[in-house]
Amino acid sequence: MISIDEALNRIGGNVRPMQCELIPCAQAVGRVLAEAALSDIDSPPHDKSMMDGFAVRSQDIEQPFATLRVVETITAGNVPQKTIHSGEAARIMTGAPVPPGADSIVMVEHTTMQGPEVVRIDVGGLKPGHHLMRRAESIRTGDSLFDVGHCLRPHDIGVLAETGNATVQVFRQPSIAILATGNELVDAIARPDAGQIRNSNGPMLEALAKSHATSVTNLGIATDDVQALKAKIDSGLSHDLLLLTGGVSAGIADLVPDTLKAAGVSEIFHKVEIKPGKPIWFGVRETAERTTYVFGLPGNPVSTLVCFEIFVKACLQCLSGGKPQRTHQMAVLGNKHSVRGPRTTYWPVHVQTDQTGTLVAEPLNWKGSSDLNCLSRANALACLGARETPFPIGSSVSVVML
Ligand code: AMP
Ligand code: MG
Repeated sequence: MISIDEALNRIGGNVRPMQCELIPCAQAVGRVLAEAALSDIDSPPHDKSMMDGFAVRSQDIEQPFATLRVVETITAGNVPQKTIHSGEAARIMTGAPVPPGADSIVMVEHTTMQGPEVVRIDVGGLKPGHHLMRRAESIRTGDSLFDVGHCLRPHDIGVLAETGNATVQVFRQPSIAILATGNELVDAIARPDAGQIRNSNGPMLEALAKSHATSVTNLGIATDDVQALKAKIDSGLSHDLLLLTGGVSAGIADLVPDTLKAAGVSEIFHKVEIKPGKPIWFGVRETAERTTYVFGLPGNPVSTLVCFEIFVKACLQCLSGGKPQRTHQMAVLGNKHSVRGPRTTYWPVHVQTDQTGTLVAEPLNWKGSSDLNCLSRANALACLGARETPFPIGSSVSVVML
């Protein structure tokens, strides 16, 4: 059995990034950049008015109630035609380029028209640069906006569009196949007979995988039978990532590791010091056409979830050019707690921010790896080291947000 860190190291050492693809920026949310994104423009592209009002020379309006001659009107999309000299102003709209000579914008609410082309400025003493954004104040041509490895968020897409990155190079997402194993399993739509349970892992993994995959193929249920298992595994191996659940432990019906090996998948690790999730299996199959990474996740649903969060996500990070990183946050325990056994335990908790702004994690009354329902009240998993137990109230713990 290996440690969690060793398992993550082995994932990092074996999983290579997917190839890249060029896609429209509007479709790139949630995707990871494979090439740094640079700007092909200054932003703003010109000294720009931030208000509807008048562009003026600040020396002209040191005192309130200066009267200025309006020499032109500039709206966004126009280019100023005149230079503003002493005693002059231009009517200007938000976003429009500031004309030469002017160094300040007075908002229209602080002005009074005194004739068709004469404006009184009702305020005085405005500093140069008032309500005006200088060219390139936000972005310079050639600036690097996002580095390789950045996962794009919706507002990043706006920046990409602004800066000429209509298409971006991102890492391809894997095609993911999911296969639940177990003689006892029936589909969610069925009413289980005696001895049967519904397949909760399949749909849960489909949901977990969705945002990380170019396609998710649910291969349904394989019975604990070498032939049936082998046939489904073979079809799963035509994907980039295959996630199986069940059949990786020490029971007589646990046929997954041997059947995977018979299908040409080389084991990278089997069994990790984690609770729940100890029997997890990970391997890779390389052929001329494709590489498939394969996880055999333990069948109990909370084990499946924890292993997805810790190990499958690490693999997904590597596939998109990154390194396995634990995305833990720090919280304090809202109640004393202890864990049993020698393995690090991921315990379901409910975290919230208290009045002082501290993240507080309340351990839930969890019955173990088959108690998925407890997770419906959880929004995080607290990582509790076996050596640190018992944990007094107020202990500092790391949590993985769900
Ligand atoms: P196994 O890893 O196959 O020994 O399964 C461990 C436990 O998880 C057993 O109680 C199984 O019935 C249960 N289990 C296995 N697969 C699933 C599944 N897809 N959905 C819900 N429970 C499962
Ligand atoms: Mg089983």
